[in-house]
Amino acid sequence: NSEAEHLAKLLRAKAKTVVSFGACACMGGVPGLANQYGAKAVMERVYRTSESTDNPAGVLPQEKTQVAEGELTLPRFYDRVHPLDEVIAVEYYLPGCPPTVEWIMKAVEAIVSGQLPPVGSVIGLSKTLCDECPRERTNERSIKKFFHVNEIIPDTKKCLLEQGVICCGPATRGGCKARCIAVNMPCRGCYGPGPGVADQGAKMLSAAASLVASDDEKEIEMILADIEDPLGTFCQFSMPKSILKGAKKSE
Ligand code: SF4
Repeated sequence: NSEAEHLAKLLRAKAKTVVSFGACACMGGVPGLANQYGAKAVMERVYRTSESTDNPAGVLPQEKTQVAEGELTLPRFYDRVHPLDEVIAVEYYLPGCPPTVEWIMKAVEAIVSGQLPPVGSVIGLSKTLCDECPRERTNERSIKKFFHVNEIIPDTKKCLLEQGVICCGPATRGGCKARCIAVNMPCRGCYGPGPGVADQGAKMLSAAASLVASDDEKEIEMILADIEDPLGTFCQFSMPKSILKGAKKSE
């Protein structure tokens, strides 16, 4: 919103070095999924149609409201979520939801010591999560069905994706020490695209599709249809930074 933009510009004016900190600043994060609807639809849902809303007059927040004491103002809510580097120039990126202590320390040490990497660098591991994940992979087309995490208790030694649980490791930067995987939960991609990955969602779509164990078009369609929300799954943290950016559902 306009307040966040104002603060970002103020910080930029005061800072020698700006680190885009966390998945939201780097890529838009989970709130970025709102880009598929736009501000008007978001307001409508949040203030009028959500199941927990009690707003019979359908009142929406207004930027300016006159009261007896004077004028009240609220920041302007923009039509789409922007990564920080669309608003101000940033020197470095420190992704993650949240970034791990280890990488925060590395960033602070680099700044304090003046041993900074080239401007534009991501402060993180130069490998994908699959490269640091200890699970066994066969790389064979093994998926006959995709499962929600609540539908299956996966084998803790084997690759989650090869068991049909969408895990974004192939498209995601490592560095988190595979902490979600260690508790048998799949990666959701909060560290952003891995090195050399141009678009995290597209890469993940390709990685999942390439493991489907069928050559029959209809069967492949049925298996892929198990993935209920492909955009929310493959671009959970990265839509505003993806090739989709602000593409709306109806477009
Ligand atoms: Fe590990 Fe997930 Fe990669 Fe499989 S897809 S190797 S579970 S990070």
